[in-house]
Amino acid sequence: MRLTPPCCSVHNHADLCDGKDSAVAMAEAAFQRNVRYFGLSCHSHTPIPADEGAVLPADMTAYRETVLALRDQYAGRMEVLLGLEWDSQSDISPEGFDYWIGSVHYQKGANGKYYAADWGEEHFAACRDECFSGDALAVAEGYFREVCQVAARKPTILGHIDLITKLNAGSRFFDESSPRYRAAALEALHTADPLMTLLEINTGGVSRGYRTMPYPAQFLLEEWSAMGGQVIFTSDAHQTRDILFGYDQAAELAKAAGFRTSAILTRQGIRECPL
Ligand SMILES: [Zn+2]
Ligand SMILES: [Zn+2]
Repeated sequence: MRLTPPCCSVHNHADLCDGKDSAVAMAEAAFQRNVRYFGLSCHSHTPIPADEGAVLPADMTAYRETVLALRDQYAGRMEVLLGLEWDSQSDISPEGFDYWIGSVHYQKGANGKYYAADWGEEHFAACRDECFSGDALAVAEGYFREVCQVAARKPTILGHIDLITKLNAGSRFFDESSPRYRAAALEALHTADPLMTLLEINTGGVSRGYRTMPYPAQFLLEEWSAMGGQVIFTSDAHQTRDILFGYDQAAELAKAAGFRTSAILTRQGIRECPL
C-alpha cells in the first residue's frame, strides 16, 4: 500500500478524557476515512482539580483495555496504537505505551496555582499579572522552559510546541517576532532530539477556530528541518469529524519549510512517506 500522510492519525482524544466521541466511534471514523495507523492519545492524569474528568484516571487499566480491544477488532485492517498525551504536570509515568506525546498545558506558579496555557485569556492574564509582574513575554518564556523539560525526556512526539500562542491572535498579549520570544521557543526546540522525537504539525487550534495556522510557527518548522528532524501531521481531534482535519495545509507548510517527507507512526516504528 502506498503511504500518504492521511494514512496516519495518532493524536486523538475520546470521551475517556475530554473528547466528545467514544473510542469506538473515533476508531470507526478513522477506518472509514482510510486511516491505517490510528492511535488514541488521551490526556494523562494530573493532580490539578480542574482536570478531573477531562483527563484519564491515574489507573489506566480501563483505557488500555478499551484500546487493546479495538486493536483486536481492527486486526489486519487498521493498526490501532496505544498512546498517551502526557502532560508536564502529570503524576504518572509515560512509559508502557506504544508512543507518547509530550505536551505542556500548564505553568505552576510560585504561589502553587496552575495556569492553563489554552483555557482562556483570563488564565493568561492572571499568570502574567500574578506570577510575572505583568510581563507577557515572561509567561511565554516560562511556558517554553517547561517545554524544554518535556523535550529532554525524549517523547515520541513533541506536542503543540508553541501552544502558548493559542490565545495570542493579533499579538494580543505579546510579539511573536520579538527576540525574547524567538529565543525561548528556539531553545525549547533545540532541546528536542531530532533522532528520537517527532515534531507534530498540529491542526487542532484551527479546527476549533482559535487560529488560522497549525502549530508550530514556520520559523520553528524551518529550524527543525535544518536540525534534520522529522514531522508528523496530527489533528488533535476531540470528535470524529476532525480526525484528518487540515492535513493539506500541514503538507504545504511542511514543504515550504524544506521537508520532503512526513512520518507515519506504526507499532514497528516510524515510516516516512513523500509529501
Ligand atoms: Zn494538548
Ligand atoms: Zn491533544
